[in-house]
Amino acid sequence: MDIKANLEAVKKTFLNQECLLVAVSKTKPLSDLGEAYEVGIRDFGENKVQELQAKQPEMPDDVHWHMIGHLQSNKVKYIAPFVHLIHGVDSFKLLREINKQGKKIDRIIPVLVQMHIAEEETKFGFDKNELDEMLSDQDFLSLTHVRIQGVMGMATFTENKDQVRKEFKSLKTLFEELKSRELPAFVQLKDISMGMSGDYLIAQEEGSTMVRIGSAIFGERG
Ligand SMILES: *Cc1c(COP(=O)(O)O)cnc(C)c1O
Repeated sequence: MDIKANLEAVKKTFLNQECLLVAVSKTKPLSDLGEAYEVGIRDFGENKVQELQAKQPEMPDDVHWHMIGHLQSNKVKYIAPFVHLIHGVDSFKLLREINKQGKKIDRIIPVLVQMHIAEEETKFGFDKNELDEMLSDQDFLSLTHVRIQGVMGMATFTENKDQVRKEFKSLKTLFEELKSRELPAFVQLKDISMGMSGDYLIAQEEGSTMVRIGSAIFGERG
């Protein structure tokens, strides 16, 4: 696997060079991360707390670690000190726990709210009603150690590009709608994390600011 060549090829196709490439290194050995690091990648995405914890001390300090997968509340404490951005906040309970752990170590933890945009039922995330419920909860207003800096979503795993586009569009629309609301100061909406190896170009067309790309860089996972 020529990671360097893959990265160059992927980057070349970007429709928006400002869009952040998060290299999804889950299941991949440190040597692969090292190769990506050498050609300038600083943002790595992992979906398992244990793996994130194991890799973090082995890589240089200027790496930004993105937690992109489903996160269990009882594991937040392990990544709270160093995680750069938690993409998959899919419940109020989890957000409260992140806030609590941030408070303990006096750190404001940046997060994205994961929205359920896919037709598939298995994907995690808020639906619009659940989000509204959280946003109007008194406890939400009193959070002190999180910063909500955007939204994240995963499209349905399908060959149907129109459907994928429609789902990304719905996330962008929701993002704009949220931005027009009056929300507490710790909500600073700027990022839309959407797009993976198979659909990042559609995601960029629909306004993605962050794509999470694994297999197109590191090869298929075993
Ligand atoms: C694995 C994963 C990715 C990357 O998927 P690829 O298809 O390999 O690019 C992106 N986002 C999440 C949440 C993932 O779990």
